[in-house]
Amino acid sequence: MDISVIGSGYVGTTLAACLADIGHEVTAIDIDEEIVRTLNDGRAPIEEPGLEALLATHAGDRLTATTSYDAVPDSDVTFLAVGTPSNDDGSIDLGPLEAAAEATGNALADIDDRHLVVVKSTVTPPSLERIQAALERGAGAAAEHIEMGMNPEFLREGTAVDDFRHPDKVVIGANADWATDRLNAVFDPLLEDHSAPVVETDPETAAMIKYANNAFLATKISLVNDLGNVCKEFGLDAYEVMEAVGLDDRISEQFLRSGVGWGGSCFPKDVDAVRAAARDAGYDPAVLEAAVEVNERQPERLVDRLKQHVDLEGAQIAVLGLAFKPQTDDIRNSRSIPVIELLRDHGAEIVAYDPVANEPMRERIPAIEYATTAKAALSDSDGAVVVTDWDEFAALDDAFDEMANPVVVDGRRIIERRDGITYDGLTW
Ligand code: NAD
Repeated sequence: MDISVIGSGYVGTTLAACLADIGHEVTAIDIDEEIVRTLNDGRAPIEEPGLEALLATHAGDRLTATTSYDAVPDSDVTFLAVGTPSNDDGSIDLGPLEAAAEATGNALADIDDRHLVVVKSTVTPPSLERIQAALERGAGAAAEHIEMGMNPEFLREGTAVDDFRHPDKVVIGANADWATDRLNAVFDPLLEDHSAPVVETDPETAAMIKYANNAFLATKISLVNDLGNVCKEFGLDAYEVMEAVGLDDRISEQFLRSGVGWGGSCFPKDVDAVRAAARDAGYDPAVLEAAVEVNERQPERLVDRLKQHVDLEGAQIAVLGLAFKPQTDDIRNSRSIPVIELLRDHGAEIVAYDPVANEPMRERIPAIEYATTAKAALSDSDGAVVVTDWDEFAALDDAFDEMANPVVVDGRRIIERRDGITYDGLTW
């Protein structure tokens, strides 16, 4: 099929590269010329395992990037995958998506045959109306030929390509049967190799499934963190407790690792958005409010633990891990940000290190020192906190001997060395 993908960020680039890989002819459209150039060179604009190899194979062949919407009318399906950032009140800023929808509608203004536009971005059910309106504004009289569907994305950064290839489910939200069939056809080649349940529903329900999914996972972690904090107060190891809890089939062993909390571009934004949309509709989602509160407390608890061992005023503190999770350079809403801010508020001097996220964090927080290795960050430090569970931190051993005062507060239970250092875990 011929497919246009509007927006080439984490989701759009992965989608475009993976759709090309399963045999479709893909046009990736972004307003950012630098991103377009990078894609056409066969390189990945973001750090994501496996992505660059796919782009190197398909760029200039089944995958073309451009800033122009000209390819849209000749496509069988157009995906909208632009960002939906948060407003100050937690609701989503639909501006970029509406602009992309209007431009898409505009590109379709001369069609006389039906066209399917699919929202990939995460949006609340009530906001679908605004995207539909933007499409109609752009298309004018041709709007009657345009069908809008919803196909939420469940990939996780750090394993995006693998998640796309091996989805747990594919959710197809469309009102017209032909649109449902066409979306199924997009994913058919993928599901031939890896069968996954396909959920067919209406666009609003599809949009809500995404929010309910993320709200559930974020709340699960916050509950585990809340219980982990209780364990710590009782002098117990939360990991031992939750390992046994996870043996219950109704709970499952996944997402039971307590620590410094969740971040990234999705959980915080999506939980905030569904809370804001619920409040708008007159409902106060109390459990979701609590999930956010626990998440905000975890970085404070990490710094409090460090304060038990180190006087932070004037101390040099190594912050290991800046990305919101391993295998990505994404620092959006990373727990490292409040950790660094709190440490600085207490007068600490920070030396930060991340295998891939130093540069994005330098742009966000320029006034701290960045080290090129974990060992260099630890060298002469009076204490260290671990914020991201990069594998390379597990193997740190002698590097702790370089510290002026070997105190390590681990927010992810990743450090293996325990002898000869003062080691403290957040919930164990
Ligand atoms: P992103 O910010 O990484 O990328 C968005 C891209 O859209 C940018 O490259 C930007 O230049 C481009 N863009 C903006 N306006 C445009 C326009 N008018 N025309 C063409 N391109 C335009 O965003 P992302 O992380 O890929 O997220 C996209 C959507 O997918 C969001 O709604 C997000 O919530 C959702 N989502 C994200 C993830 C994730 O892990 N990042 C997972 C699932 C769903």
